Amino acid sequence: MNTILTLENITKTYGKITAVNQLSFTIEKGHVYGILGPNGSGKSTTLGIVLNVVNATSGSFKWFNGEENTHQALKKVGAIIERPNFYPYMTAYQNLALVCKIKNVSTSAIDDKLKLVGLLDRKNTKFSAFSLGMKQRLAIASALLNDPQILILDEPTNGLDPQGIHQIREIIKTIAKMGTTILLASHLLDEVEKVCDHVVILRKGQKLYAGPVHELTANHGYVELNAQNTQQLMEVLKANNLFERVIKQDEDEFITAFLSEPAKAEEINELLIEKGIILSHLVKRKESLEQQFLQLTSQKNT
Ligand code: ADP
Ligand code: MG
Repeated sequence: MNTILTLENITKTYGKITAVNQLSFTIEKGHVYGILGPNGSGKSTTLGIVLNVVNATSGSFKWFNGEENTHQALKKVGAIIERPNFYPYMTAYQNLALVCKIKNVSTSAIDDKLKLVGLLDRKNTKFSAFSLGMKQRLAIASALLNDPQILILDEPTNGLDPQGIHQIREIIKTIAKMGTTILLASHLLDEVEKVCDHVVILRKGQKLYAGPVHELTANHGYVELNAQNTQQLMEVLKANNLFERVIKQDEDEFITAFLSEPAKAEEINELLIEKGIILSHLVKRKESLEQQFLQLTSQKNT
């Protein structure tokens, strides 16, 4: 009902390279989705496929529950997947007016869109005089001219200075608040953390995680602990289902035990006392998305 886009087992190969590998995910209306992955992980290829500019090798996708064909459906999609390219000698307004003509929509919305991206006072400035950030904002205004159901952005802040980055992120949040679904690709974890509520993490074209950003951050966390008899503590922790991974490297002062379900420090302490272990150290920590991302992307070497 509120499904905007569904991908099912999409694969794309370029010769021996598998750019996208059996990728499935769903985009629901009203959320901000991030496709997060290092360079070369298949983000742009995935966007190209659903925008019909790249042919998938296998698998399928459908827009809006397949109620209309892809060509029709894409008229309700706004996308910026390349560096913004407008006529340099034309003003911001003139460029958008041309886009309106091509898209066959009224020019009456131009000022509104320019205002939204903070360029209304520059509407009569030539595109050639714009900074990269302004060009990117103009591209967003352009993509919004036909009031799309979803806005797709590929690395929207690449190459921008900190202020430009901040402006773009604020604009994306504003557009999302107005009810437009957003799908953005980024290799920047903090961008996804700041802007998105859902994330699909890719590595080498494969999905490592898909779900709410908060679930990734709020995974049950981990505890650092130690006791006089480290070896005994290690064995007890490993034998207990409460911990899904127990790690201690030689240089580590403490044992790190990742929780498989929520548990309070008191419960952990009590459980170990029952096993005859008196802890010398116990600290509960929540793993950041960053740590989890780095962990996810460094595993599964295939
Ligand atoms: P990302 O956007 O995450 O950086 P891409 O989707 O651009 O990743 O690329 C995924 C992989 O596919 C990379 O290994 C890239 O080199 C390869 N690739 C992308 N486009 C082409 C192409 N047109 N021809 C050959 N290989 C490509
Ligand atoms: Mg890319």
